[in-house]
Amino acid sequence: MDQNVETIQSIHCERCKKALENNGFHVNIAKNKAEILDLVNGMIKDGDVVCDGGSMTLKETGILTMLKQRDIVFQSHNEPGLSRAQSDEEARKAFSADVFLASANAITWNGEIINVDGHGNRVSAMIFGPKKVILVVGVNKLVEDEAAAIRRIRTIAAPANSVRLHKETPCAHIGACQDCHSADRICSSYVKLNYDKENRIHVILSLEPFGY
Ligand code: SF4
Repeated sequence: MDQNVETIQSIHCERCKKALENNGFHVNIAKNKAEILDLVNGMIKDGDVVCDGGSMTLKETGILTMLKQRDIVFQSHNEPGLSRAQSDEEARKAFSADVFLASANAITWNGEIINVDGHGNRVSAMIFGPKKVILVVGVNKLVEDEAAAIRRIRTIAAPANSVRLHKETPCAHIGACQDCHSADRICSSYVKLNYDKENRIHVILSLEPFGY
């Protein structure tokens, strides 16, 4: 990547880190995959019950592979072959897990974490339940303000996830949200985490881009 762009992205990361910390979140900045894996590894203890929110970032960084090699109880509602009922049952286990891992759709320069969720399990577990929440967020998801976060979700995150999940939604074909009422709609709940007063949420900001 261009050195000048890298410099600006690093400034954005530092800016978001300070703002997030001011809002009560724990924050680390990671330069690359190896640093992300080290940080995540260090936040999980042997024997922990660990769940995930379903995330391209967790896959691309190698976190999901790493979790399967650890001496932990890893319960994922995303395992292939699960029926909807089985997946829901697995997703509910996140509420009593030791650690919940996910990414976020956007983080603002004011330190707000903004997500959209179709089913609601991912954002619910971020808000309440698991003792520790670890969010791994690429620099590509840092945005100036809430309006930019919503724009990002409507033009990148939701359309790209619709394509990934083979959803028959307008955004999968047009590339931008059409406020659909489709049975396949993947964005039912917009949720903003403003503050963490429970000392639960750890954000790893990555200088490398990951996910949508
Ligand atoms: S409301 Fe429909 S069209 Fe808009 S982002 Fe969500 S799934 Fe796509």
